[in-house]
Amino acid sequence: MDIILTKSHIEAAAHEAFSYATSLTGGANADYIPFLANIDSGLFGLSVMLPDGTAFNFGDTDYKFGIESISKVPTAILAMRQHTPAGVLQKIGADATGLPFNSIFAILLENDHPSTPLVNAGAISACSMIDPKGDSDAKWKAITDNITDLCGSAPVLIDELYKSESATNFNNRAITWLLKNYNRIYDDPDMSLDLYTRQCSLGVTSAQLAAMAATIASGGVNPISGSRVFDREIAPKITTLIATVGFYQHSGDWLYTSGIPAKSGVGGGVLGVLPGVLGIAAFAPPLDSAGNSVKAQAAVSRFMQSLGLGVMNGDRVTVTD
Ligand code: GLU
Repeated sequence: MDIILTKSHIEAAAHEAFSYATSLTGGANADYIPFLANIDSGLFGLSVMLPDGTAFNFGDTDYKFGIESISKVPTAILAMRQHTPAGVLQKIGADATGLPFNSIFAILLENDHPSTPLVNAGAISACSMIDPKGDSDAKWKAITDNITDLCGSAPVLIDELYKSESATNFNNRAITWLLKNYNRIYDDPDMSLDLYTRQCSLGVTSAQLAAMAATIASGGVNPISGSRVFDREIAPKITTLIATVGFYQHSGDWLYTSGIPAKSGVGGGVLGVLPGVLGIAAFAPPLDSAGNSVKAQAAVSRFMQSLGLGVMNGDRVTVTD
């Protein structure tokens, strides 16, 4: 079926979804990273960007929050840019484990494989894959330049979050060294973990994440700069990874109900990609039991439902002025 939407339909649906989710209660800030426990739990923003750069923003869309696990998306893209999608599949994998994002058990169950770049094990492994090897500063520059290109503006390091996370990331240290034991860390292990921890501590706004999502939805062209950030063949690969594991253990339930591949992070962010149509991002700190933002997921899901959109629907969607 053909679905024709005007930009004002999209704006109205985003506004209505934001208003609906604002009143929701429940969930709690992540507290295993001390800095996150203290973020104002009333913050809430919703941003949508279309492939032509049209943006709709509601609420706290300029607030820079911890990107956390959503950073796994751009670094997986960078690893694919540098080593091809096939290289990432071979070195890391593309499978959902059904287990928590920081599971050590999953590494053992997957025959010593990090599974996917969108869980902690695979993301640390992806940081180790980034070139140039052995040079922490140059790797960090490659990681942050890639995020800047995807967002159309630079992220900022939240130093206090980085310190908080570095001081408490014992589980991730165990993951890193277990992967090293299985030859799944492709550079210095401590450096790879530090880069992962630092990228999780970057502050971004929901408006920036919507631009990143829109870049993926547009097959690699950033709607703000007009520049091609990655090859078209990478877009379906990263969207597949997002669809299979983006919502932790609730990824299947999420895709089934919302109809949009999305990645969440324990900082309260959600980034959703509707290929060819739009990018969406939302942010609100309180999380459900699987680590997904209560308000952000409600807003994104409501938006999709009210427009009758779904990645599996088989519709041809056209957006007009
Ligand atoms: N930095 C967090 C960790 O490694 C990210 C978790 C997440 O957002 O899923 O535990």
